[in-house]
Amino acid sequence: MLIAANWKMYKSARETREFLAAFERPEAVDVVICPPYTSLREAVESGQAIFAQNVHWASEGAYTGEISVAMLVELGVQGAIVGHSERRQYFGETDETTARRAEAALTGGLGVIACVGETEQEREAGETEAVLRRQVGVLPRDEGLVVAYEPVWAIGTGRTATPDLAQQAHAFIKSLLDVPVLYGGSVKPDNAAELLSQPGVDGALVGGASLDVDSFTAICLAGAPS
Ligand code: PEP
Repeated sequence: MLIAANWKMYKSARETREFLAAFERPEAVDVVICPPYTSLREAVESGQAIFAQNVHWASEGAYTGEISVAMLVELGVQGAIVGHSERRQYFGETDETTARRAEAALTGGLGVIACVGETEQEREAGETEAVLRRQVGVLPRDEGLVVAYEPVWAIGTGRTATPDLAQQAHAFIKSLLDVPVLYGGSVKPDNAAELLSQPGVDGALVGGASLDVDSFTAICLAGAPS
């Protein structure tokens, strides 16, 4: 069971230090924290497993605002999220750039959480499986790869996929690619246990509810076998 915290553009280095000083990982779950780049060093010093929120495919070069695999490895970062829907929606990320980022990270020894998921419009048009097939189809086959199913309509909206719907999408993704699949989209302490008990749900990628140490701890505990 893997519970990952995506802090997005929240938490300075000081706030990161404070959160991680207060956080105790429940033994029975794996936890990954994904802070902003400027907080990575403090986060690594906490001893928790730390991923970045993105990574570039080139080893170096004229790519203003980007970060390479080697830069993350040097800091002690263990992996990166790629293809988050906010990157796709606001920063022009595509299936192709997501795949290139994933490939470079995995080749360079980082773990990868690759995000996939349909928009509301795509779901309503009956295109969910086609979208997932396309997004998953480009990802490299690798032991270090984890997929996060994050229906775009459920991210930051308070609208969570029902456990059945999540299970269906996870089973479909697993039929395409044999990897752990995390669920993401408004996971909260009060819905985590039911979502995480689905057989195809191997963990969660948590945004908003990961910013508060008590709420994130409660979600981690919901994933711990009783
Ligand atoms: C996310 O950003 O990956 C996410 C799932 O956000 P939230 O939990 O806030 O919906």
